[in-house]
Amino acid sequence: MPVMWGRLPQKAPEPLLLPVAGEWKSLDDVEKYAEECMELCVSPGWIMRWDRAVKRLGCCRLNERVITFSRYFVDAYLKKDPELIRRTVLHELAHARAWEMYHERGHGAAWRRACAELGIAGERSVCSCEDFSPFAAGHEKKARYALCHKETGEVYRYYYRKPRLSEHRLRYSYMPGHKKETFGKLQIIDLMDDDKF
Ligand SMILES: [Zn+2]
Repeated sequence: MPVMWGRLPQKAPEPLLLPVAGEWKSLDDVEKYAEECMELCVSPGWIMRWDRAVKRLGCCRLNERVITFSRYFVDAYLKKDPELIRRTVLHELAHARAWEMYHERGHGAAWRRACAELGIAGERSVCSCEDFSPFAAGHEKKARYALCHKETGEVYRYYYRKPRLSEHRLRYSYMPGHKKETFGKLQIIDLMDDDKF
């Protein structure tokens, strides 16, 4: 089991023996892979969930010990680029491991060490996926902005032009029927920007 809040060891990271990612036929297969890997690299209590983000592929919510992946993204790339999905799963797990073992957020030394242990040394810390949007294919005009949840990345609305919503108004806005989860947590994002995750 991982040691809590340790210091980064001097010795080189040893790779963990993770399950081999086979051919994925459905989201369930990806979920199973993520859960199997999770069992091997973090302590019990972490969970994996799907979200509806369209701007980023995966997300690691450290305080809640939850790792989520975009349903849209995984579905779109299941056959096209399974390696990208596999790396995203491990990228997020590396955040979980770096947090659990060294209490480090972000893409620092502990995260890079965790990446090496998970077999994705050299993983990029920033990944953009511009073509990835449910609007990308077959639509004459692509949405440029989205209203989404700050923490989960879940998208509620798309816009072609930047909506006139002040920071102040956003802070006091929420999605009808979801006040508890969304109050003060909405933001407008530019889908053309690179995204850190
Ligand atoms: Zn990251």
